[in-house]
Amino acid sequence: MTVKPGENTEKQHPKRTRKMGKNTLSVHGGDNRARAHQAIPMPIVQTATYAFADTADLIDFMQQKSWGDGIHGREEYGRYGNPTVKAVEGKVAALEGAEDAVLFSSGMAAITSLLLSSLPTGAHLVMTDDCYRRTRQFCLSFLKRLGIETTIVATGDYDALEAAIEPKRTRFIISESPTNPYLRCVDLELIAEIAKRHKVQTIIDSTFGTPVNQLPLSYGIDYVIHSATKYLGGHHDLLAGVVAGRKSRISALRDARGVLGGIVDPQSAYLLERGLKTLGLRVSQQNETALKVAQFLETHPDVERVWYPGLPSHPDHAIAQKQMIGFGGVVSFEVRGDLQSTSRFIDAMDIPYIAPSLGGVDSLIEQPALMSYFEKTTEERLEVGIKDNLVRFAIGVEDAVDLIADLDQALKALHP
Ligand SMILES: *Cc1c(COP(=O)(O)O)cnc(C)c1O
Repeated sequence: MTVKPGENTEKQHPKRTRKMGKNTLSVHGGDNRARAHQAIPMPIVQTATYAFADTADLIDFMQQKSWGDGIHGREEYGRYGNPTVKAVEGKVAALEGAEDAVLFSSGMAAITSLLLSSLPTGAHLVMTDDCYRRTRQFCLSFLKRLGIETTIVATGDYDALEAAIEPKRTRFIISESPTNPYLRCVDLELIAEIAKRHKVQTIIDSTFGTPVNQLPLSYGIDYVIHSATKYLGGHHDLLAGVVAGRKSRISALRDARGVLGGIVDPQSAYLLERGLKTLGLRVSQQNETALKVAQFLETHPDVERVWYPGLPSHPDHAIAQKQMIGFGGVVSFEVRGDLQSTSRFIDAMDIPYIAPSLGGVDSLIEQPALMSYFEKTTEERLEVGIKDNLVRFAIGVEDAVDLIADLDQALKALHP
């Protein structure tokens, strides 16, 4: 590939580690152009296994395999690899400025495979409190049963984070940025520095960030994880997850995937490769629209509070400004209302679907009290910081004026 970066007037990542811009990498990242039948898109190689020409071919493959990775240029069995899957892995690696990436069947498969394959019994993790609910559940119940303990510290309390590290026992600091639903941002450079000082590895779930907006590896973070179901796929039509990082570590994780079994199917990998081609375009638009929506909501009399890292009122605005290009497509806000009137507002919205998830071309809206915390009482929800009047708006690629007009008319439903 000889694409030249050219004059790029866009805001650049503070620690730039990529040679080309977000849109060029979205389209061409990881592209080796050696396509069957001269096809431009990576074909869907829909197979569970791969044939050998004869026994000599098989022996040749097995010998090469025993010498090390990456030299054989063919696959053996579907759980170990697939050309469509490899194409996506190359593109994500290029976008993250990573040496390599490995794709999984879901974001949770990515997280659980990484932790299960790297933690010995008796190990210890430090996790920030705003982490994805299922990641917390996995660490606090599943890993606990295997004798692996997790200490949870408040997001933003770096002294507590450092104090929670146990010499020789702590293996990982695991965090997210921005978080769900309050879009808290952790200082990636500071976390990497604390971890290095204590010889601990770092994992950042960058699902809400996307490689368009932030590059955790460029700050010295060891592993970046995505639920590719969200922005990377971008169309609410597939489930996938990915881990990017150093070559030797990702290669070990790919071997672990062959044992744990969480490989993505070729069809979903194809959809993901197709979705990724517009990642740069989509996320830039979502950044812009979300900022406009957040600014609109902040001045609206029926909105009590807006949570968006692009607003100076957000507790982590300074950190976000330091390490992000844009602030992402999710805006959370508290309306002036209770559980019922907030639901009335949500029901009055015309454009977004009521659904969990985020990051796709269609806007989605939800009331976390009823979506993720339905089984809890108002008091229990407040304990974990979820108010009944909280709304999470995951912005798609619709026109900002239409989304704002929709919000404006729906907010009237708060006073029927
Ligand atoms: C959705 C999500 C996950 C889980 O990903 P799946 O693809 O649904 O398994 C993990 N982390 C974050 C931040 C998410 O939003």
